[in-house]
Amino acid sequence: MLDVAVIGAGMSGMYQIYKLRELGLAVQGFEAGTDVGGTWYWNRYPGARFDSESYSYGYSFSKEVLAEWSWSEHFAPQPETLRYCNFVADKFNLRDNITFGTRLLAAHYEVEANNWLLHFDNHEVIRTRFLVTAVGPLSAPVLPKLPGLDTFGGEVHHTGLWPKEEVAIAGRRVGVIGTGATGVQVIQEVAKTAAHLTVFQRTPNWCAPLHNRPISEAEQIQIKASYDAIFRKCNATTNGFLHDADPRKALAVSAQEREALFEKLYAEPGFGIWLSNFSDVLVDEAANQTISRFVADKIRQRVEDPRTAEKLIPKDHGFGTRRVPMETRYYEVYNQPNVELVDLVSTPIEAVTPKGVKTPDGEVPLDLLILATGFDAVRGALDRIDIRGRHGLELKQKWADGPVTYLGLGVSGFPNMLTLVGPHNAATFCNIPRCIEQNVDWVTDVIQYMTRNGYRRIEATQAAEREWTDHVFDVAEGLLLTKTRSWFMGLNSNLENHDKPRLLVYAGGSPRYRERCEEVANQGYAGFELSRGS
Ligand code: NAP
Repeated sequence: MLDVAVIGAGMSGMYQIYKLRELGLAVQGFEAGTDVGGTWYWNRYPGARFDSESYSYGYSFSKEVLAEWSWSEHFAPQPETLRYCNFVADKFNLRDNITFGTRLLAAHYEVEANNWLLHFDNHEVIRTRFLVTAVGPLSAPVLPKLPGLDTFGGEVHHTGLWPKEEVAIAGRRVGVIGTGATGVQVIQEVAKTAAHLTVFQRTPNWCAPLHNRPISEAEQIQIKASYDAIFRKCNATTNGFLHDADPRKALAVSAQEREALFEKLYAEPGFGIWLSNFSDVLVDEAANQTISRFVADKIRQRVEDPRTAEKLIPKDHGFGTRRVPMETRYYEVYNQPNVELVDLVSTPIEAVTPKGVKTPDGEVPLDLLILATGFDAVRGALDRIDIRGRHGLELKQKWADGPVTYLGLGVSGFPNMLTLVGPHNAATFCNIPRCIEQNVDWVTDVIQYMTRNGYRRIEATQAAEREWTDHVFDVAEGLLLTKTRSWFMGLNSNLENHDKPRLLVYAGGSPRYRERCEEVANQGYAGFELSRGS
């Protein structure tokens, strides 16, 4: 019998295990992969890397880790981040408390005993007092529903399930389906060596330059000396990044002033163009059009063939209303003779054949097909587990019309279950590790508070849950992202209910969220029912 079972050994699970073990609790992590890393373990596709500044992404909780680990680039590639996760796991012997290669199939709450009964795919059955889910917001890959996909004779991989063994790219005929943040990273990498690359694009996205570069020795010294300031800044910004909105409004300044900021941000590294832009561009359609026009012109300048350029310019949504893919010479890829863009709106995929992909224009022969088709976001990894609370209440059923939670951490009807980076939690709309640390610290504190005060059961009240869910919708009111089809709204065309938008994130900002969580804790966990029962 465990005190706490932590499901998942990515960034949040690792830190949660570390913190609970410090309290002297019987904690065990369970991880489907064969090692730590979560996102960085599964997403080993070519070109995967941070879009957050590396030094704003790592854990802040250990001065030793900060001193001993050196990032090599401003935006580190996936192999380096996976090495970082391993470094942290080694340093704190986290693997001693993790069972690898085991996937949680079912978690059922036992009312009388006030336990969770966990069933794993290796037939192991475990009881635990607390269930902490650390399953990740983008960890349930979605495959496209394409006729004949299983008949393809070449190699096929989803980016989120990329094999550990090297996948040959050089000299091969490669197809990529999907042009989100993942697809863009894959495409720009694969185009370097593939004999031929065909990009199957349905909806273009607004991409912006990452401007990555190595960290110099002088910068390294400077970064290590500034960690306190870096984390202070991240914790003060809306989304936990080093970028915060410009208080000016795009429509209140002259065209010249507007262009000057756009040019400056387009030339700067990272998410500045998305997050440090004028304060009205993500809420006001007319303001949004100013930045959309600016970026469209950049695409036209960078892509030589005007028809291809037009295909790459989004027409159905404005800049920044979806997650902005960050790129490195992505648009220039389409000037290469070995790259072809297929617009699926005019030439949809009819079928995948044993030899390749068939459209009305003919068959595109392929050796390797890469599916960058996204995820069942935020709730998908929870939905894929048979989670039942009091009296057999199914979590998936409870959330049939969209998630309802308290603080994105607790759910009424599901006692002693706490969801790190869950739906309607600020961490899902954040530079994730910054908000992971807040989530984990809060969960650790509540478990410590209960242990010290003899409480054995915690459950969000229905009233608190209703109030929080209303608040989640209220703060998102007016944001253009709520009018746009994307994973923020729970939309992926390959899912059931793909036509029903359901807001999955908390968009009120992480400072406000943190304040609210602290307030709740200071009031003895107001909105949660705590009891000393069994
Ligand atoms: P995504 O944004 O959901 O994009 C999926 C892509 O696949 C879209 O272009 C979609 O087109 C296309 N697609 C899906 N099904 C299709 C079908 N049946 N036929 C044709 N096209 C299809 O997923 P993602 O690119 O994996 O990114 C998800 C999130 O992961 C990002 O927004 C970001 O938050 C995170 N991410 C982070 C990093 C980083 O930090 N560096 C890197 C990559 C991803 P439609 O739009 O037409 O549906």
